[in-house]
Amino acid sequence: FDASYFEKQSRIWQSKYSRRRHLASLLCEQAKNQKVLNPKSLESFSNWQRARKLKANYQKKVANKRKDYLHKLTTHLVRQYDVIAIEDLKVKNLQKNHCLAKAIANASWSMFRQMLEYKCERYGKELIAVNPKNTSRICSKCGFNSGAKPLEIREWTCPNCQVHHDRDINAAVNILHKATLNGQELAVVNS
Ligand SMILES: [Zn+2]
Repeated sequence: FDASYFEKQSRIWQSKYSRRRHLASLLCEQAKNQKVLNPKSLESFSNWQRARKLKANYQKKVANKRKDYLHKLTTHLVRQYDVIAIEDLKVKNLQKNHCLAKAIANASWSMFRQMLEYKCERYGKELIAVNPKNTSRICSKCGFNSGAKPLEIREWTCPNCQVHHDRDINAAVNILHKATLNGQELAVVNS
């Protein structure tokens, strides 16, 4: 998913906006202290207003790109598979996260899930949301729980059966096991 150009522009204009608005407020403050007769209002500084508009436009473009991508992805999944298993993540709790990237990821996840839900219903496909508990901790081969692993650990070896796992694939297989389905073609979507 490539919205990198818009994301970059959005960051650039966000910082220009903050800098320009800050500078304008300093000038307003200065004029006030110098008892200027007709001081400019903060709103009348046009360069931070322009940056605000550009920033908002790029943010909107990023959001649209993201939505577009999620539409294509969910349509593809629903057309391709009869049963789709996902983790039943509690988005309400996740959204309390103050990290911006994580907040966006959480918002995308809930949008993704909503799209999957209504598209599955429309196309008569089955969506199974499984309890996410331990999906990234349990070895999908032997079931041994080796505890939480920091997100930067992308691969690990089970201390019980010595099988080497890709983090995401192992979790996806666990989600598949939890959905307990046999003989059906499945799409496993791992958060
Ligand atoms: Zn194992």
